[in-house]
Amino acid sequence: MQFENNLTFAKKLDEEDILKNFRNQFYIPLINGKECIYFTGNSLGLQPKTTQDYVLNELEDWANFGVEGHFHARKPWMPYHEIFPTQVSKIVGALPEEVVVMNQLTVNLHLLMVSFYRPVQQRYKIICEAKAFPSDQYAMESQVRYHGYEPNDAIIEISPGAGEHAVRTEDIISTIEQHGNEIALVLFGGVNYYSGQVMDMAAITKAGHAAGAVVGFDLAHAAGNIELKLHDWKVDFACWCSYKYLNSGPGGVAGVFIHQQHIADKRLPRFAGWWGHTKETRFKMEKGFEPIPTAEGWQVSNAPVLSMAAHKASVDIFDKAGIEKIVAKGKLLSDYLLFVLEEINKSAKEKMIEVITPADAKGCQVSMLMLQKGKEVFEALKQQGVIADWREPNVIRVAPVPLYNTFTDVFTFGQIIQSML
Ligand SMILES: *Cc1c(COP(=O)(O)O)cnc(C)c1O
Repeated sequence: MQFENNLTFAKKLDEEDILKNFRNQFYIPLINGKECIYFTGNSLGLQPKTTQDYVLNELEDWANFGVEGHFHARKPWMPYHEIFPTQVSKIVGALPEEVVVMNQLTVNLHLLMVSFYRPVQQRYKIICEAKAFPSDQYAMESQVRYHGYEPNDAIIEISPGAGEHAVRTEDIISTIEQHGNEIALVLFGGVNYYSGQVMDMAAITKAGHAAGAVVGFDLAHAAGNIELKLHDWKVDFACWCSYKYLNSGPGGVAGVFIHQQHIADKRLPRFAGWWGHTKETRFKMEKGFEPIPTAEGWQVSNAPVLSMAAHKASVDIFDKAGIEKIVAKGKLLSDYLLFVLEEINKSAKEKMIEVITPADAKGCQVSMLMLQKGKEVFEALKQQGVIADWREPNVIRVAPVPLYNTFTDVFTFGQIIQSML
């Protein structure tokens, strides 16, 4: 598409946008009495207007039924988590039995590593991206130590090449090949939280498996943002949070994927709890753990219903909008943003912004390395009602989110920066 850097054009794109009405289903925070330009849906997604009702329904049922709500609530709490797999599996490209909604992201990463990071003899290393999200780094370090290894030795990090910002897929593959039989686990973010780079998950999975390793992904910045085909790519496991692109509220309940080929494997070690136990005999309260032969078998505790109610409100919106349309609009928004930023660079005496997000491997997030006036620009954006994200030393991350951001948001954002020149 031939983009134009003017308001008429941005408005025309908004008019033609098949998802345009979804914005009305969200609360847009106000700044100085005006709807802000909210570009931090990659950090905390906005609240759907339906969320309150979904949560209030559960509070009402609790008031009316007490413990009987486990069976008599409108959505009975006992099997509450079962309302998710059909819809959530579409978002991540999985079969329903490969998906379960439970706990929170880092907790799930640990639980999955218990099953899927199983170092033996010389095969004990983990390959991951350099500067992974800190929580993932801590999880990996502590898991490695738990098995009696030293992180410095056992964790191999892959960085972008000198002067580059994205990791090259060929570097990942060659490192995997080079370390071959030392690797127990390949673990990457599906989308890097800092650069916004989308990893080639199909290629990484293939290379990891060829080396005899298990392959997992943290999809915190990928779920609800990019196209995922976890089942077809034969990814072994994955996990994600629901409060970023999935709009399910601060600290919302998280999601897990375990490939079909593993879900019924009773030999896999796991940290078990009663909610993972076969439903038929769960309430016999007897000794001897019998896992449910689906991803549900990894559940530990009973369902956090209030948090799940908020998640359901959001997932219903995803279902109505359709993940393919959401992904397509997200790409168009970020393509338009790249165009607008390039226009700013062209009109500046000295280049102002270096985009560190690869144009051909991105979702809706764009990370801008500010070559001049970084903090000033960020402050001006704030003053004029833009909520973006500052990362030291001088990166501004912005995510125009397809369900509630507009092309006019992107254009206006560009105008504010332009006015700083
Ligand atoms: C946001 C994010 C987290 C946060 O973990 P929580 O357990 O939800 O607090 C972890 N890892 C990645 C890659 C993230 O982007």
